[in-house]
Amino acid sequence: MDNESQSNTLRADMSPHNQQKMLRNLKHQIDTLSQFIVRLSKFYDGFNPLLDKELHALRSYLLGKMNFAMAEVSISKLTGLLIENADYSKQQNAKIHGLLESATTQLQRNAALPKALRDETQQFLQTLQQSHASIYSSFPYFEQALSLYQRALQNSSAPATEPTLNDAEENFHQQLVWELRDLVIQLSSASKEKELQEIRQRLEQGLTHNQLLECCLLLVRALSKEVLKDRKQAERFIASLHNTLGNVSQAVGRSLKDSQSAYQLKVQHNQQLRQQLQGIELAVDDAQDIALLKQQASEYLSKMASTLDSRERADKDEQLALMNLLREMKDQLSALEKEASEYKQKLLQQKYHSHHDPLTQIPNRYAYNDRVELEYRRWRRYGTDLSMALVDVDYFKSINDRYGHAGGDKTLQVIAQNISKCLRTTDFLARWGGEEFVILFPQTAVSELDNVLEKIRLQIEKIPFKFKEQAVTITVSIGAAGFNREDDVETVFERADRALYEAKNQGRNRYVINKGS
Ligand code: GH3
Ligand code: MG
Ligand code: MG
Repeated sequence: MDNESQSNTLRADMSPHNQQKMLRNLKHQIDTLSQFIVRLSKFYDGFNPLLDKELHALRSYLLGKMNFAMAEVSISKLTGLLIENADYSKQQNAKIHGLLESATTQLQRNAALPKALRDETQQFLQTLQQSHASIYSSFPYFEQALSLYQRALQNSSAPATEPTLNDAEENFHQQLVWELRDLVIQLSSASKEKELQEIRQRLEQGLTHNQLLECCLLLVRALSKEVLKDRKQAERFIASLHNTLGNVSQAVGRSLKDSQSAYQLKVQHNQQLRQQLQGIELAVDDAQDIALLKQQASEYLSKMASTLDSRERADKDEQLALMNLLREMKDQLSALEKEASEYKQKLLQQKYHSHHDPLTQIPNRYAYNDRVELEYRRWRRYGTDLSMALVDVDYFKSINDRYGHAGGDKTLQVIAQNISKCLRTTDFLARWGGEEFVILFPQTAVSELDNVLEKIRLQIEKIPFKFKEQAVTITVSIGAAGFNREDDVETVFERADRALYEAKNQGRNRYVINKGS
């Protein structure tokens, strides 16, 4: 390219060809510049109505048939307006920053905010306080603030609105959850109610305090539904018993009436026979002619035969009626018997479920209450020894935490089986609740407990538990006490509990016997 074409100045000494070329270049540059100004002006649209109006005018002068003179006027007006607006935009920027800062400070002060989110908010706040650039550079800050708010909201719609529980309350909450779950399992083993399965699922998934209360309510509802169902079944059985007895009594009444009329018929027949015999006797006494006697006797005998016939027929009818009645009664009674045996079966099942722990299949707390009452009465009456032990799994919470509730449940089953193995058939083992078991040793003094308690401790310690391919040793602590003169069930239980507490305090995996009174 030559020098002339590079310069933007038209000179008279230029060749016409070069002058034309230069004009084309200039026109192209002006077009590009105008288009750029038009686009740039559109960026400011909506910023300020006065600016909008003037920018619109400028665009009209620069597009199509250009009017540079008017464009120049417009540009000078716009320059004035832009200088005025620069201050306004600075003020706006400061105001928006202020708002962003105060909203973030408020969020940071929210006590329900999780620690990680609060730290992040604090950091963001520091960045905000340092930076005061233009409005446009604030956009990423808006984005960040919105994301913090969104996450805080998600958190607050989660159970964070629940009051936080302290350790003791948390333990109590957990205990309630487990007890409730045991109850639900117990109930649902006897019933197929959908609600019960749902409650059980919710309890196993873990819940907040309010949700636990809600579950209690649902359980009470499910329970009353079960009770009503049972009551209805009992009522149906009683109604059908009543009905059968009514039918039998009616039939017996009918049969009594029938037998009475049959009896009268029999008396009538006997009278007839007697009269007919008397007739023969008289005929014999008065007889003078053997031929006449023969004739008379034959008449009487045929009458007697017909009386005996009718009597036999009446007997047969009566017998038939009686047989029918007996058959009818037998059918009704066997239907009732079937119903009664089904009902009895159900009651037996209910009794089993209400006295057995569904998880470990050993007797539960209710069964223990019955049994301890019986053993206590025997002990008072016969004065033979009676002792009690409480077994509690060590660090069971951490087993649940590490291997999940299913792992915890399996552990309880294995432990229950293994304690059973160490006992005599006359001893009694029950699941007291959670990971605690109670044992009654009838006819056994506390001084005789060492062997069996050590056997239990050792038996559990050597169970080769394996979780996720990892061998784990689980141990139990045991506290025991015996019944002394003035004791009742509660005082012995308390002493055994104290002994258990000591066993825990002394380091766990051991037994302690309370020998005092
Ligand atoms: P310690 O050695 O002091 O006895 O410690 P621990 O962890 O065993 O303490 P604690 O008795 O307080 O914990 C018992 C835990 O047992 C609490 C509860 O989460 C759990 N639990 C109660 N019932 C059940 C159940 O039926 N199944 C399972 N898997 N866990 C249960
Ligand atoms: Mg415990
Ligand atoms: Mg424990």
